[in-house]
Amino acid sequence: MTHTFDGICPICEYKTQFRAETPWYRDYLFCSQCHSIPRERAFAYCLKTFIPNWRSMVLHECSPEDRGISARMRREAKQYIGSHFFADVPRGQMHKGYRSENLEALTFDDNSIDIHCHLDVLEHVNRPDLCFAEMHRTLRPGGHIIFTTPIIAGKLKTERKATIDENGVTFFGEPEYHGNPIDAEGSPVTFHYGSDLADLILSWIPGASVRMITLNDQGIGVLGAYREVFVVTTPGGTQPSLIRRLSMRLDRLRGNGMRKFLRQQKMKQMIRGKVGRPA
Ligand SMILES: [Zn+2]
Repeated sequence: MTHTFDGICPICEYKTQFRAETPWYRDYLFCSQCHSIPRERAFAYCLKTFIPNWRSMVLHECSPEDRGISARMRREAKQYIGSHFFADVPRGQMHKGYRSENLEALTFDDNSIDIHCHLDVLEHVNRPDLCFAEMHRTLRPGGHIIFTTPIIAGKLKTERKATIDENGVTFFGEPEYHGNPIDAEGSPVTFHYGSDLADLILSWIPGASVRMITLNDQGIGVLGAYREVFVVTTPGGTQPSLIRRLSMRLDRLRGNGMRKFLRQQKMKQMIRGKVGRPA
């Protein structure tokens, strides 16, 4: 049975139909225009809503896919750095267009990044506390971390499912793997996160603002399990300068459709009688 919903995709921004051939929407409710899936659209919606000036920022994405919001950020951000964990490539080196990075031990300079982002990476790391310490170290004050990771419904307390060390992976219970864009074997699941993740993040980055957003919106094709998006802002951001604010405003206008803006301007002029109505 095909499940369909009409709406507007926050990634390709086309009027579209979201379609799934199965009730498991999480991985299979595709946008018929850009083939994105719900968590990518939830991420795109939150990026646009909470960090509208992202295009003018230095953006690092950990483990990007070659489509959807990753492709759009790569195309539109002023400075986009995509990275993967390549076990055999020295950290900091480029490989096949991506930088070799380990989120637990980044090679970026202090205060050099505006946004760190990742989709469904955090449930595969061994030390999320180190990941957040490293993202915090490398972010400019007032920088952002935006990401998705599955939050298990009804689970209050985060539970470790596996450890990774020099001897490999040790599971506590049934082994669980998820798809990995650069490894056909997949990635081991190390954590089942509960609703305490927001508090954990706050303990790793004291003073941060942590937002956990759960959308349930068929108009943007965000339906199904595990829809949470986290937007974390580190402390210490200052009011940007006037020039920076103006450039951010321009950036927003570009992103929200310059044509729409110009149309509105023309409408205003028509109302004032400066421009004749088209015949
Ligand atoms: Zn789309």
